[in-house]
Amino acid sequence: MSKINKTFEYCDQLVRDFEKAIEHPIVGESSVYYTGVDLGTACVVLAVLDENYRPVAGAYRYADVVRDGMVVDYIGAVHIVRELKQELEKKLGVELLFAAAAIPPGTDALDSGAVKNVVQAAGFELTNLLDEPTAANAVLKIENGAVVDIGGGTTGISILKDGKVVYVEDEPTGGTHFSLVVSGAYKIPFSEAEQYKRNAKNHKELLPVLKPVVEKISSIINVHIKGYNVNEISLVGGTCCLDGIEEIIEKKTGIFTHKPQNPMFVTPLGIALSCRQESI
Ligand code: ATP
Repeated sequence: MSKINKTFEYCDQLVRDFEKAIEHPIVGESSVYYTGVDLGTACVVLAVLDENYRPVAGAYRYADVVRDGMVVDYIGAVHIVRELKQELEKKLGVELLFAAAAIPPGTDALDSGAVKNVVQAAGFELTNLLDEPTAANAVLKIENGAVVDIGGGTTGISILKDGKVVYVEDEPTGGTHFSLVVSGAYKIPFSEAEQYKRNAKNHKELLPVLKPVVEKISSIINVHIKGYNVNEISLVGGTCCLDGIEEIIEKKTGIFTHKPQNPMFVTPLGIALSCRQESI
């Protein structure tokens, strides 16, 4: 049986440092800055690390420029990345030159060009383009098991064996569906439901309402991990911020399931960790 990684010590510390750096950017003398650009269905996140790969700044914005993992509003995406870049440059007092980006599993042939163009058009030199599960695992550091990334539009399931991604798939169910369920159940507009869902104070009340959609995701996970010897599921992505989601998934899959403290920033930080100084 493979060793189960019961804690996310490195990940939790990195995310805590990043959350602090979002609030209070660290202005210093770093010789180089590395930026991770995560272009998501619901959210665009920029994470900036210093020469020692420590978080120094970050910014994010909810946006509708990507759908099901594909860039659908190219100009909108460029504007947001450029604005976030400029905002962070102002705070840090430096120009951010290098960036890495990621693409959801299965979209590389179609969309890697668009993601690359967005990052370059926003004024970065693109130095790495990797897949999201590999980025997430740079932070989680899992040897064997499944990483389930429940974002806004999709759920990415990846299986790791000896630290390498051996299987990846992306399914079109995510946090947007959670908000639609909340909107229907509470008879409130989608945007209000989205805000309500993101407030941790409402999670206890929302969990029974959202249980069926979490169970649907659990069945999707079961289909994809069948045939693989998975004995640990690690949850990442903003939707996994929902309190208690891990318990439902664990019950439905019968597999030990856990998540880091803030699953939303794992992939953006992993992308930033993969950033280098040479263009690809
Ligand atoms: P995708 O991976 O599908 O392209 P994305 O990268 O934009 O999407 P994330 O940034 O990982 O996805 O997560 C965004 C989703 O997480 C949204 O649906 C948002 O409502 C949800 N989310 C963010 N914070 C919370 C929270 N505190 N509680 C519940 N859901 C949350």
